[in-house]
Amino acid sequence: DASSADVVVVGAGVAGLTTARALSRTGFSVAVLEARERVGGRTLTQPLGGEPVDLGGQWVGPQQRHVLRLADELGLKRFPQHHHGTKVLDVRGELRTYRGQVPSLPLLSLLDLQRVIWKLDGLAKRVPRERPSAASHATEWDALTLEEWKQRHVPTWGARAALDIATRAVFAAEPSELSFLHFLFYVHSNHGLMPLTTIEGGAQAERFKDGAQALSLRMAAELGPSVHLSTPVRAVLQDADGVTVTTDGGRTWRARYAVVAVPPALAERIDFGATLPAERRRAHADIPMGSVIKVVAAYERPFWRDAGFSGEAVSDTGPVRLCFDDCSADGHHPALVGFFLGETARAWTGKPPEQRRRAALESFARFFGPRALKPIAVADLDWLAEPYSQGCYVGLPRPGTLTAIGEALRAPFGRVHWAGTETAVEGCGYLDGAVESGERAATELAARLSTPGPTTPLSGAA
Ligand code: FAD
Repeated sequence: DASSADVVVVGAGVAGLTTARALSRTGFSVAVLEARERVGGRTLTQPLGGEPVDLGGQWVGPQQRHVLRLADELGLKRFPQHHHGTKVLDVRGELRTYRGQVPSLPLLSLLDLQRVIWKLDGLAKRVPRERPSAASHATEWDALTLEEWKQRHVPTWGARAALDIATRAVFAAEPSELSFLHFLFYVHSNHGLMPLTTIEGGAQAERFKDGAQALSLRMAAELGPSVHLSTPVRAVLQDADGVTVTTDGGRTWRARYAVVAVPPALAERIDFGATLPAERRRAHADIPMGSVIKVVAAYERPFWRDAGFSGEAVSDTGPVRLCFDDCSADGHHPALVGFFLGETARAWTGKPPEQRRRAALESFARFFGPRALKPIAVADLDWLAEPYSQGCYVGLPRPGTLTAIGEALRAPFGRVHWAGTETAVEGCGYLDGAVESGERAATELAARLSTPGPTTPLSGAA
């Protein structure tokens, strides 16, 4: 017994819902099938200490025009990320503090770091965002890891440490896991290294008052009964007339086209039939997710602000590698947010939550003093243990993959189109890229749906 729609969208994250919303507003019928019992995918907002906090994606910045436009359309309010005060740099076992943008490193390291940032930004601009594999040095760069490039080109310990810390913060991975070509593409896709890593004027500039999941909740509310939760898709098979989408529970949908808006590593578990091109299979197999566990602790007082700290800390020791102030917009609900990233996330995944939370509070205490050990509430989310994410923030092509898959991340496979932040040209990895990819997929589909194709339209499949 089949239900029918013009387009079936697999995945109710920001990307899938953006596609469905755009198509539905153009007058096409959609069915959005979501594996989880909630929408939002890699965003999840929960109350903690009386205020919504984000356990997934959280910040947006002024360069991110796609998500900002969507947020405005949906009427979501934003507020600036707090950043005033002293910052903590915990490197090689030593705590250093500084104010402003320049970290407290030896002068030689700082000069080296500035040179490295210019060099990397310059190389990134030489990687075409639409097709990284077309870069003139693509093969050479894709065979290298960022770690190997660093060993060859970054002489000072301070610049090396800063690059390691920034890589973990931005990718939730170690430099040894990243293809240098992908690293450069990602920097280009996200407007350069400084916008990626900074608060003011950068990708961490603002937060959503109601949390980032509100993007998805509002789009799902507009779509109403077209969104089907707890509906994991197992197969997306096509014939001359349309696609048949089958769920784990054995329900089927018939549609003219499908949009698959799940990360490549999750698409690996869906059956697309024997003719799925080799490049696309490679994309599913060789773009594993990064590693992150996020922890938010709520406090009676913003004791770090009282002591002159901004709440920003980075560490190469861990387990928390990155920390920010996470107070509510009015400052009345004080909180800190911390990230286990890369190897420390992998070391702590699956451990008892109490032990993990305790370890996070000990990191906070190392940065800001023992009052961090006395929160009023703590929440955390181990994204590696989420069956429908299998890690986060984003899929990371293994070395050699980007050049091997060519256009396969975005190229439609017959009646199946692809969305999701991993497929974005601009804002790849971020909420911005999720929106960009969803809009692109909707434009592709709207064009095909309005032009009579070479095949007969779907008839009487319902
Ligand atoms: P997803 O959100 O992963 O959506 C895919 C959906 O498909 C999910 O709902 C999943 O359940 C569903 N699904 C999977 N398999 C199936 C199946 N077989 N059948 C049906 N449904 C399926 N971005 C920012 O911009 N700023 C940040 O500050 C930021 N911080 C982050 C912090 C963390 C801890 C995490 C986890 C992510 C962060 N990100 C951030 C990244 C951002 O959240 C993602 O880029 C974005 O949410 C991706 O959206 P998406 O729709 O592409 O994918």
